[in-house]
Amino acid sequence: MSKQNQSFTSTVLKLRFMFHEYYKSNPDSVDTPEKIHTKEFGIQSWEHNWFCPKRRTRDESGHETSYGCGQSGKSFEPVTKCPKCESPEIQTTMWKRHVGYLNHDELLKALMAIAPHSIYHSAAFYEIPVARHMNEKEWIGAELVFDIDADHLDIPCAKDHDVWRCNTDSCHKTGTGPAPDSCPDCAGKSFRTRKWVCEKCLEEAKKHTVKLYDDFLVNDFGFDPSTIQLNYSGNRGYHVRVHDPRVYLLDSNSRIQIVHYIMGLGLNTEKVIVSQGRVNRIPDRSFPGWSGKMADAIIEFVRNIDAYSGTERWVKPLREGKIAALDGLLRKPPILSKEAKSIGLKSWQEIAEKAAEFYGGEIDRPVTHDIHRVIRLIGSLNGKTGFTVPEVTRDQLNDFNPFRDAIAFDNGHMKVKFLYSNPGVPRFKIGDEDYGPFHGESVELPSAAAAFVLCKGVATIE
Ligand SMILES: [Zn+2]
Ligand SMILES: [Zn+2]
Ligand SMILES: [Zn+2]
Repeated sequence: MSKQNQSFTSTVLKLRFMFHEYYKSNPDSVDTPEKIHTKEFGIQSWEHNWFCPKRRTRDESGHETSYGCGQSGKSFEPVTKCPKCESPEIQTTMWKRHVGYLNHDELLKALMAIAPHSIYHSAAFYEIPVARHMNEKEWIGAELVFDIDADHLDIPCAKDHDVWRCNTDSCHKTGTGPAPDSCPDCAGKSFRTRKWVCEKCLEEAKKHTVKLYDDFLVNDFGFDPSTIQLNYSGNRGYHVRVHDPRVYLLDSNSRIQIVHYIMGLGLNTEKVIVSQGRVNRIPDRSFPGWSGKMADAIIEFVRNIDAYSGTERWVKPLREGKIAALDGLLRKPPILSKEAKSIGLKSWQEIAEKAAEFYGGEIDRPVTHDIHRVIRLIGSLNGKTGFTVPEVTRDQLNDFNPFRDAIAFDNGHMKVKFLYSNPGVPRFKIGDEDYGPFHGESVELPSAAAAFVLCKGVATIE
């Protein structure tokens, strides 16, 4: 085994040991999913399970070639060819699906025994959750779940802390921000990316979570707050689960409609913005649903109109009449100012439609509409960060800071070696301490910071 592989393996073993210890000392933090015996669990392990299929092919002349050796095994490093026969046609997975637990004790025992990298469960309830095929599981309903993740928000700090590296062997160009469509140096299209997470990403995700919870789930849909469960995802966002039997039987289409409503997509604004006499009217803020949100949505949109990239005919007059338009909209009740000249009824309706799209809650759509999706177990550990996945009440959410409140490991120090010098690892904060940036050095870190960089895969244990 090469030295690099060796440190990789000892890093994974160390993390797994730390996860073991965590579950042993914090059994009460692990949540019991509703009707746990009906839930399918999905487990991501630390190791890659590989299988080298044995195949024989015969060409036209009858000549036989065989591939693969039929063996299988486990590896802590990513495997690209069979460790036994070097066949590249290898199958690997870190996943185990269709797992079931009858009760909390069984789940807890499994967590202590396997200390997985990550563990998920279905939002769905099944008659036979461990059946291998979806149609054999017998779906009997599903919670309504939402995922608010910095990945889906257009966050400017990605430019500062996300990096990409071209996969072309002779190139390996690197850059910051999201990966380009093609490499500026070699035109290659394959990249390795490293997404980071910072307080700014998480503040933005929190804002959208609060909006989803307050404005849409409680206000518009009227769900009882006691049926809504919130948690931090352990990485770049938050999850929301609605445990209300009235939503369990909603099919995928109904869930898509809920998603569209929340995101403000396809609103019919002709009924919202109307003209009365010679005045264009906008509903008062006390109106239910999107009508009452419209004034605030347009205010936000007008405030950012200079950054808007659309070319509609009303963009220029709206920029010019910005102050007057805001002045009218901020009144109680709000009005569509006549001083924002040459913006007619039709234009205001279009502006309202656009404004709703910007104002709507940003959620990861497939998570909500796919009725077979799995979602992280609350109270488990997230192997991408070493953070916990804690439940957070709506009141706690206001002051919740993942870099302080989702720390799993809080005693001792560890020596780690950073793997990359360019681009290095950006500065990060754990608890009250700032760390980094790091460029390939060996350092001793408190275990929470060490676990974070080890889980992120940017350092190995030394
Ligand atoms: Zn093989
Ligand atoms: Zn390149
Ligand atoms: Zn960020």
